[in-house]
Amino acid sequence: MELHCPECNSIVYSRRADICGICGKPLPESFHFHGDQAEKIETELEHARHDLQAVSDDRAAVREGLDTPDSLFLEDATDDMQ
Ligand SMILES: [Zn+2]
Repeated sequence: MELHCPECNSIVYSRRADICGICGKPLPESFHFHGDQAEKIETELEHARHDLQAVSDDRAAVREGLDTPDSLFLEDATDDMQ
């Protein structure tokens, strides 16, 4: 889908543009709406990436806990001293 400047009829390549890159006239609100939607989708994708990163971080932490159970031994030692 191509958007055209209502003033000079040039193709507007960027839906986020506030003004026409050719004639410099302000673009209609509907152009901005499309831009906002694209931005919203990008934000949601960004959040999804963060969630995936968080999950992999949790798994790494669980692995570390299983590989190094030193904290359990330290707790036992403290109990014996009291
Ligand atoms: Zn124009």
